[in-house]
Amino acid sequence: MSVENRELAGPKMRAIPGARLSKIPQIEQLDADLRRDIEVVSAVLPFKVNNYVVDELIDWDAVPDDPIYRLTFPHRDMLPSQMFDDIGKIIDSKADKATLRAAVDDARLSLNPHPGDQLASNVPVEDDEPVNGLQHKYHETVLVFPGQGQTCHSYCGYCFRWAQFIGIADLKQAVDTPDKAFAYLRHHREASDVLFTGGDPMIMSTERIRNYIEPLLAPEFEHIRNVRFGTKGLSYWPYRFTTDNDADDLLRLFEKAIAAGKHVAIMAHFSHPRELETPAVVEAIQRVRATGAVIRAQAPLVRHVNDDPSVWSDMWRKMVNLGVVPYYMFVERDTGASSYFELPLRRAVGIYRDAIAAVSGLERTARGPVMSASPGKVVLDGIVKVGGEEVFACRFLQARNPDNVGRPFFARMDEHAVWFDDLKPAFDEPWFWQQ
Ligand SMILES: *Cc1c(COP(=O)(O)O)cnc(C)c1O
Ligand code: SF4
Repeated sequence: MSVENRELAGPKMRAIPGARLSKIPQIEQLDADLRRDIEVVSAVLPFKVNNYVVDELIDWDAVPDDPIYRLTFPHRDMLPSQMFDDIGKIIDSKADKATLRAAVDDARLSLNPHPGDQLASNVPVEDDEPVNGLQHKYHETVLVFPGQGQTCHSYCGYCFRWAQFIGIADLKQAVDTPDKAFAYLRHHREASDVLFTGGDPMIMSTERIRNYIEPLLAPEFEHIRNVRFGTKGLSYWPYRFTTDNDADDLLRLFEKAIAAGKHVAIMAHFSHPRELETPAVVEAIQRVRATGAVIRAQAPLVRHVNDDPSVWSDMWRKMVNLGVVPYYMFVERDTGASSYFELPLRRAVGIYRDAIAAVSGLERTARGPVMSASPGKVVLDGIVKVGGEEVFACRFLQARNPDNVGRPFFARMDEHAVWFDDLKPAFDEPWFWQQ
């Protein structure tokens, strides 16, 4: 097949930014209130969809309750009601740009744009200088944020990196050249894994990705066994792996890394079984797997999209059927539109349990519900009664201090707790890692 034929065979990505969402034909058919909601909310939070999401993922007959629509389109409840009213009034009054801009800036700052201050606290320091664009929290894994990978094919309403997309978080959180990452990795022999993340590193051209991967195949990086890519590309633009111009080159690059002795892990983000059902994603998964790369899947548990055990059990069954390994079920972070998506930890534990109970052992490999908190990755193993008191049984899957990995602990039951910071020690004060 010639290159021209491939280009003709695949669709071209057309990105639709938040400011244009209310103008697309599918939205123009909805009622005026919904259109105004979209305008007001997208003035504050970042949104972007593309032709695949609109044409192939969203079921427009089910809008506004369709889960993929809820995942990708603005909803008025994503803003606190007072904020929604205030911004809405400013827009309706056709106020000047500066007035709207000032109100929007204030609104954004009140939505906890820097959750857990994770950017600042995990940036490694080398020769007394912070190495921008890297995070090294757990010994074995270094996160790399390539400068050209800080956007996605489409955005998730619950994204915890939303502030970066609109320029209010520190965009220095990206490496401008691969050399910076290599200089650090060369000296950190304890690291066995490199995780390219973003945004979405798969937004980059294969040539750019190649500049990050090929040097790692040299003997000096023998200690790097696993090369991971955090991506929602399979879900939001599967053509990245099938018919895009450089799709074949990308797959050859995976093969090259594998032939050089690396394990290539695609850390795919799938929020709903719908994302596994199109012919395009099925082909993309087959092609990636044929290179020898392993696809592992993770997503947060969020209201309006996947807060039902049968959605997860269905998703895990479909994954295993396609050769994708379920990896993590996350708890959604306390930032941006979190009040819209969050659900009580108590419910999260129940949903995970009911979902796991409905599938076979092969389909039970996702750990959850998991919170990426400041001292580490905490899984809620369940709710138990100890000495007559109901408590959350928790455990560190990952810990800033490696001595704490695997250690269990108990947190007091709190019906309203939605995030790690809401939890209090059940018996001993303070938490053992603070003693
Ligand atoms: C989740 C995470 C990792 C990877 O953890 P694994 O359990 O090895 O998948 C690495 N670094 C950070 C900061 C993380 O949050
Ligand atoms: S794909 Fe990931 S980084 Fe991109 S918007 Fe969704 S959650 Fe955020």
